[in-house]
Parts: sequence; C-alpha cells; structure tokens
Amino acid sequence: MVYKAAENRYDSMTYRRTGNSGLLLPAISLGIWYNFGGIDPLENARDMLHTAFDLGITHIDIGNNYGPPPGSAEETLGRVLREDLKPYRDELIISDKAGYRMWPGPYGEWGSRKYLIASCDQSLKRTGLEYFDIFYSHRPDPDTPLEETMGALDYIVRSGRALYVGISSYSPEQTREAAAILRDLGTPCLIHQPRYNMFDRWIEDGLLQALDDEGMGCICFSPLCQGILTNKYINEIPDDSRAEKLGNSFHWGDEVAEKQIAKVRKLNEIAKARGQNMAQLALAWVLRHKTVTSALIGASRSQQIKDSVAALDNLDFSDDELQQIEDILAN
Ligand code: NDP
Repeated sequence: MVYKAAENRYDSMTYRRTGNSGLLLPAISLGIWYNFGGIDPLENARDMLHTAFDLGITHIDIGNNYGPPPGSAEETLGRVLREDLKPYRDELIISDKAGYRMWPGPYGEWGSRKYLIASCDQSLKRTGLEYFDIFYSHRPDPDTPLEETMGALDYIVRSGRALYVGISSYSPEQTREAAAILRDLGTPCLIHQPRYNMFDRWIEDGLLQALDDEGMGCICFSPLCQGILTNKYINEIPDDSRAEKLGNSFHWGDEVAEKQIAKVRKLNEIAKARGQNMAQLALAWVLRHKTVTSALIGASRSQQIKDSVAALDNLDFSDDELQQIEDILAN
C-alpha cells in the first residue's frame, strides 16, 4: 500500500528554533540507533518512521555505525525514504554522523578529514540521499587538530553533502573552540548533541551556557536513559526490552541500577500527579531548558513514539515540582 502522510501532521507538534539559526526542529525527534538495523523487522521500522512523521516528527537522526550490523540502519532508513517518504524529502531533517569505528585501519574512525569525508560519502550512498540536513562530528578526537575536523565539516557543507553541521559529546571548552573555528570558516555550528537525562546532567555544568553564548542549539540523546526513565522497569525487566536484549550491559541488579529504579518509582509519583507517565515526565524535564531544542528519543514500537510525543501536552513545571525532583535525584 502506498504511504500517505497524515493530513493533520503539523497540527499538534511543537517546533523550536535551533539556537540562532533559521532551522526549527520538533521538540521530540526520533533516533534510529536501535531497532532499525539489518537484524530488526523492516515492517516495524517502517511503521515507526510513518508514525513519527504522521505526528509531526520531522527530524530523524542516524549515525554511520547504527545497526547492527553497522551501516544497516542507514540502509533501512534509505529504503523507507525511497519507498514511502520520497515525496516528503523537503519536509524532513535527516542527520548523520561520523566519529566511531566504521571500517578497519587508521582511516576508519575519529576526526580526520580523510575519515569524515569518506564516511559521509558512504552514508549518502547507503541512505540514497543527495545530501544530509545536518552532519555531525560524532565525538571529539584528542589526536586530530580541531581545525582539521572543523575544516572537514565546512567542506562537507561547501561541497553540497550537508546543509548544516553539528558536534556531539564535545566538552564546553571544545565546543567554544569548534564554534569559533567554524564561524571563521563561514559555516556556523548549528547544534550540539549531548547525552542528557535525569541521571546524567553533565551539560548543566558549562555546556548549556556555552551553547547559549555561541547561539547553538542542543538536541539531547538518551533522554529516557535508554528506557530506565520509564515505567517499564519499575517491577521487572520485560522480555522484549532493550535491557533484556543487552544482557548485563545495564548492570541490572547492581547497586547503581537498583538505586536508579528506586528513584524512578518516586519520580513516577510526581509524573502521576502531573497527569503524565514516567517517560513523559522525563522528556518534559529535559525540555525545561530553553536552550534544549529537542529531545532525541529511541523507540522499539510505534506506541512508544505516540506516548512520548504526548509529553508535549504538559511542559510546564512549578518550582515545587522541580524541587521535589531535585530532592529525589539528590538522595
Ligand atoms: P532513549 O533514552 O529515548 O531510550 C529509548 C528506549 O527507551 C527505547 O528503545 C525503549 O526501550 C524505551 N522507550 C522509549 N519510549 C518509551 C516510552 N514512551 N515508554 C516506555 N519505554 C520507552 O534514547 P536512546 O538511548 O535510544 O537514544 C536516542 C537516540 O539518540 C539514538 O537513536 C541516536 O539517534 C541518538 N544517540 C546518539 C549518541 C551520540 O553519541 N551522539 C549516543 C546514543 C544515542 P525498549 O527498546 O526496551 O522498548
């Protein structure tokens, strides 16, 4: 059946300006790190992409290494774009990244000009796209001059491979430096993609201020802490959850996880009082900063995307609610 996007797709989504740029992003964006790989059912991936777009999620985030196997999430997205979403290309913001290990040898990871440009070309091929809307340096490279990495991003824009560039997981100092280099080159740094959620608040310590000062946007990954900040683990680990699939990589049963889940149980009471579920509270909380443009969620099924988007129905916090959350997180 031919996919036709919902007529009302722009009726309820909130769009926020990305820093000082002209680009608006949906307050909730969809990342395809998990559940869109070659090992995952294509029809579920397709359904999630349709659901997202129908809800006004115009921004899809990928990385060269997403899968498994690496590169296969790009192929899945490419296929759905080609078969279903092609007429809507100009309504979509597709981002991609390079930085982590993608192929063997010295040119298959980090931040050299050689790697970034070759990887971007590979990603364009796998997705079948003519250009990415945003292309990121996925992580800072301690051994490559920042001028070289930023120079490669500038070239990627000038050569028509991307419209905007961003950086991911750069420290506040590296961010200021990268922004200055890109500004001098004439390609402003659009956005930073850091990890941010109730259990990982590093961006509050200087990064948000740096982004404000530089006029950059911020899109936060793992806002649900990979599913921990939802109702799903309050009682047990469900069979089909990411934690179950990853085996012990969540360190389930260890002290940290036990402490986190104990906090989630208390936070869930605050969510209920706000008429939200835990995931919705966690997303609203990330979006309380005006510098945060978008919360970048993952999902394993369409219902989760619908559920997460409903967080936007209540983004306001009273001082009392914020204090209660601080108290729970601090203990
Ligand atoms: P989340 O913290 O949103 O975790 C997503 C997981 O949470 C889902 O797979 C699902 O778990 C669960 N979940 C999602 N919505 C709900 C809901 N409404 N109710 C209950 N459970 C829910 O984000 P991710 O860690 O997946 O990261 C999101 C995106 O961020 C990635 O796809 C990627 O694009 C980007 N990213 C970027 C990185 C970088 O270095 N720049 C690193 C990591 C991610 P389950 O699968 O168990 O059902």
